[in-house]
Amino acid sequence: MSYNIPFNKPYLTGKEAHYIYQAVFTGKLSGNGIFTQKCQSFLGYRYGFSKCLLTTFCTDALEMAAILINTQPGDEIIMPSYTFVSTANAFILRGAKIIFADSMDTNPNLDAEKIEALITSKTKAIVPVHYAGCACDMDKIMQLSRKYNLYVIEDAAQAIDNYYIGVDGIKRPLGSIGHLAAFSFHETKNIISGEGGMLVVNDKQFEERAEIIWEKGTNRSAFFRGEVDKYGWVDMGSSYLPSEIVAAFLWAQLENMQDIQDKRLKIWNLYYEGLKGFAAANNIKLPLIPEYSTNNAHMFYLVCESLEQRSAIISYLKSKGILSVFHYLSLHSSPFYKDKHDGRVLPECDKYSDTLVRLPFYYELDDENIETIVKAVIESVG
Ligand SMILES: *Cc1c(COP(=O)(O)O)cnc(C)c1O
Repeated sequence: MSYNIPFNKPYLTGKEAHYIYQAVFTGKLSGNGIFTQKCQSFLGYRYGFSKCLLTTFCTDALEMAAILINTQPGDEIIMPSYTFVSTANAFILRGAKIIFADSMDTNPNLDAEKIEALITSKTKAIVPVHYAGCACDMDKIMQLSRKYNLYVIEDAAQAIDNYYIGVDGIKRPLGSIGHLAAFSFHETKNIISGEGGMLVVNDKQFEERAEIIWEKGTNRSAFFRGEVDKYGWVDMGSSYLPSEIVAAFLWAQLENMQDIQDKRLKIWNLYYEGLKGFAAANNIKLPLIPEYSTNNAHMFYLVCESLEQRSAIISYLKSKGILSVFHYLSLHSSPFYKDKHDGRVLPECDKYSDTLVRLPFYYELDDENIETIVKAVIESVG
């Protein structure tokens, strides 16, 4: 079936092929070249991240974070069940046990009020996932981190260019608050490079080792800066650098970041205005942005009253050539983890698995498209 309005459509700023051509003709194609450094310094400067390392996937950045905190078999890692598999796999690969936390009633992020009861002497880290780019309650999470001496790794895959507003009134970029953070530039995110990711290191104790793990366990980066006179195998690691071709593509996107973000916010607001009356009248919920979060317009979703209602919306939109999609299936009840999970029911997480539907969201959606989609959503429940 072909859709007139797909769910996602990668946006090209127009300079991607040009920068890729430049990368190709300068003859430096492997990782950590000029484009990689341009992207890292741009993002570091814009958000005040002290160290950024581009990776081939956000999944890589999460795996690097799991290595950096020395995740050992038996360690417990707390994270939401309503998330992408990579959040959990990164720690599973190091033998950890995942302790799944429930989501909030009001939004799919993990409920920070429910974390403390899950902390044991084996807990090593909390991994908040900023769902739809919307901030988790970071004051509460960092307070638990200090009280119990736990690492916080932000899964900021969807959270580029979004901010947390603290109880102190200070606005901090997401990804700058935890000890480590992981971003994604997968083609479904706001800023893309096909596949792509980034590790952000906020805790200085990890800076040097992060670079070593990134470079296959060698101190090659320090060698190229002239800090050591030979380089060799000094730690465990893997190959996490993207090629310069990927970084060149990403650079074209970053140059146009403000335009991309402005356009996405406009789309988000059109959806919100178009659907708020309908939602209130039908007991459907629109995304709730808490007062401590800004909005990076990563996604627009509805939380339906029931699974049946969601199915009716998805199939009605499909009949109109519009592709809308549900999202995560609870990881705690997945075929891989259900026997390893401790048996707690996570009703909020299951609720989002059953009732959340995402509407098409991409730069090129115009006012007319949005009107068509809004109209179809309203008709589908009528
Ligand atoms: C997209 C996403 C990832 C994985 O990103 P990749 O770059 O595809 O590895 C991880 N976590 C969340 C929450 C995501 O949305």
